[in-house]
Amino acid sequence: MNATDINFENSLSFARQLDAADPLRAYREEFYFPKVQDKQVIYFTGNSLGLQPKRTQQFVDDIMQDWRELAVEGHFYSNKPWWDYHERLAQPLAKVVGAQAREITVMNTLTVNLHLLMVSFYRPDQKRYKILCEEKAFPSDQYMFQSQLRFHGLDPDEALVEVKKREGEHYWRTEDVISKIEELGDSLALVLIGGVNYYNGQVFEMEAITAAGKKAGAFVGWDLAHAVGNVDLRLHDWGADFASWCSYKYMNSGPGNASGIYVNEQYLDRKDIPRFEGWWGTKKESRFLMKPTFEPMATADAWQISNAPVLALAPYLASLEIFEEVGMKAIIEKRNKIVAYLEYILHEIDKQVASRFEIITPEARGCQLSVFLHGEGRPLFDYLMKAGVIVDWREPNVIRLAPAPLYCSYEDMFQFGQILKAGIERNS
Ligand SMILES: *Cc1c(COP(=O)(O)O)cnc(C)c1O
Repeated sequence: MNATDINFENSLSFARQLDAADPLRAYREEFYFPKVQDKQVIYFTGNSLGLQPKRTQQFVDDIMQDWRELAVEGHFYSNKPWWDYHERLAQPLAKVVGAQAREITVMNTLTVNLHLLMVSFYRPDQKRYKILCEEKAFPSDQYMFQSQLRFHGLDPDEALVEVKKREGEHYWRTEDVISKIEELGDSLALVLIGGVNYYNGQVFEMEAITAAGKKAGAFVGWDLAHAVGNVDLRLHDWGADFASWCSYKYMNSGPGNASGIYVNEQYLDRKDIPRFEGWWGTKKESRFLMKPTFEPMATADAWQISNAPVLALAPYLASLEIFEEVGMKAIIEKRNKIVAYLEYILHEIDKQVASRFEIITPEARGCQLSVFLHGEGRPLFDYLMKAGVIVDWREPNVIRLAPAPLYCSYEDMFQFGQILKAGIERNS
């Protein structure tokens, strides 16, 4: 049954029935929730910083203990040796993004990784030098594109091409992305788009866009910050060249934490790919012989540079254990249902307060609903926060609601509706 076929009810008892039947309900207990006025919050910002899993502490403590007791010997003789600690993350992450384990590694942070991947996959020449992205891409990506272009001596105003939304529409049309790719043709060097847009929550048709970009002879990469752990990804089957994502949003691995990369297998074990290199990318068998020549790992690990920040990788590994247990399929099933319920609640409240809001997220969506609040401003946001609803505010007056399926409950959605209604009616 489709989540949208359910006859939802805007009542506490109905929400509780949904919770009782939720196969993931036990996972809510696996996370720490902040409190406002001694009450556990309703947390809608898992798209910004996921909650802390309770099991994470132990993973970090293990490393602190090994460091305390083994010091340098921990590199090789701890329970989970540090020198190849990052390799433990590849297999579970590969499942989350639909890749082979050897196409995955974890290192650095997201924008840094995209820059490093552009070293390999953005190599402009006289003819082919343009970059295609979505208009109003995440700011860090915009700064990255502009600085990369200037680094190559190019003018961003000319070489950076943005796909626009149509007048009066809140989302991008796939046909517009594809026709822009075709129009640019052999001047197009790179397509790099956020797989899920951070502002409106739209899931781009990554398979079709990848195919169109490849057909035009360009490299195609994806910024999966809002996609990983949220939507179905099949990077390998789609034939994407590369991708990167952060781990602190839906992946729950802690503020500013390490980023994952995917590099398509056709680029592995090749010496002709330009890359910024360091000792953690050279073959592990000979890494400590300290030889002067770089021999790349035959996996995405060739892109590694420095020795791995294991204290940061530990929370990522803890989180991946949860994703491994639950699986993306179950996460997506609950996501569809809980987002549909939230949408229903919003429509119900909207009727009661004489139509104030508009959901600007298109049907191609993951966990997030972006809601335009007509005639409401920051005071409503402040009201929600004081009432224990953690939401995110974007100018001019959009709130983003992302009920992360691992820890949000259907009762949260119902309670949110009640608080929102009281907030809107507070002045009347
Ligand atoms: C969150 C986010 C980032 C953040 O980049 P960092 O390098 O991790 O600070 C980048 N791109 C997109 C699309 C994001 O949503």
